[in-house]
Amino acid sequence: MGLLTLTPKGFSWFQKGHPWIFRDDLERIQDAAPGSVVTLERRNGEFLAQGFYSDRSKIAFRQVSRGRGSIDRDFWRERIQRAAHFRQAVVQNTNAYRLVYGESDGVPSLIVDRYGDHLVMQTLSQGADHLTLLFAELLAELFRPSSIVLRNDLTVRGLEGLAQEKKMLLGEPPGRIEVHEGDIRYWVDPWTGHKTGAYLDQRENRLQAGRYLHGTVLDAFCYQGLFALHAARAADRVIGIDSSQEAVEQAAENARLNGLTNVEFRRENVFDFLKEEVERKNQYDGINLDPPAFAKSRGDVAAASRGYKELNLRAIRLLKPGGFLVTSSCSFNLSETSFLDILKDCAKDARAALRIVEKRGQGADHPVLLSFPESYYLKCIFLQKNE
Ligand code: SAH
Repeated sequence: MGLLTLTPKGFSWFQKGHPWIFRDDLERIQDAAPGSVVTLERRNGEFLAQGFYSDRSKIAFRQVSRGRGSIDRDFWRERIQRAAHFRQAVVQNTNAYRLVYGESDGVPSLIVDRYGDHLVMQTLSQGADHLTLLFAELLAELFRPSSIVLRNDLTVRGLEGLAQEKKMLLGEPPGRIEVHEGDIRYWVDPWTGHKTGAYLDQRENRLQAGRYLHGTVLDAFCYQGLFALHAARAADRVIGIDSSQEAVEQAAENARLNGLTNVEFRRENVFDFLKEEVERKNQYDGINLDPPAFAKSRGDVAAASRGYKELNLRAIRLLKPGGFLVTSSCSFNLSETSFLDILKDCAKDARAALRIVEKRGQGADHPVLLSFPESYYLKCIFLQKNE
């Protein structure tokens, strides 16, 4: 078995509990095969942990266990089963949710999402990639899915020296699947959709937003239209905006699937649309803003902040007194504190008094590992405009 030895600085980092070790913090690498499970030890030979080794990424080690027991089929079976039990407790009224969330479930860099009877898997490191077939076998054995899609068309795999690919690990490509989220039904295509087919991390926020967004509602960056549809059940009129033609067509189909006729989807650039709406002096009772991650790296934070500022300022101007703004940022590199600072700044510029109604994050099926800040990326703030 391969062996990695930490530098003293690496050891103090390890003691904080972060599950990743960077290559610079290793002073010796012995017999470690790419993607294999290796032992991590201190300079004095003390055993610390076992984990995945990568010979390409800056993240050289991803912790799997602090125990010495063998990391075999039974070990992984038990980890996946535990992940599934947890979802049974925290996920309700849906058949589309995340089943395994990497490090937070003790299975580093493995993502498994469930859409009805179908599973979608992603392996984001050499270690997880190496175990693709074993993971697929365990998922088949434990959950008896109709299909398992491997959605490994992700650029981050390049950092691990891994190819981008999509393939079937079980069954045929499922095509369009109908799933439900609370009372809302929607179509997902795990082969072509964004991420694994849908933005499951917003599931609970969409259900909750539906309770606040009434009257005339705008869903900006709507993708499959899910915020809009949840709102449409109680709102008078909802308009959903996305720059992708395919997205607005899908969203419109989802509206038909639910028999909702008070919602309309338009292909527009949100930045332009909000500006024009301010000029037209239109007003809304509820607005949802769910842009893509603007800050993909630390270097993007300044430009990203300007983007969030512009969007939120315009949205606040468009809100009627008493209206609700549900605003999200899925940029890990922009902290919750910085996001709230941007919102404060927007309120000041708009001369509006806003109160925080709820501070939310990703759904409970995407649990945050305390020692792993990277696992907390989605901020979703519910605000109400007092005046
Ligand atoms: N709210 C959605 C997820 C949104 S993902 C949900 O809950 O499922 C972000 C969406 O923003 C994508 O669909 C993308 O097509 C769209 N998008 C990105 N930039 C845009 C822009 N400038 N104007 C409008 N839509 C944009």
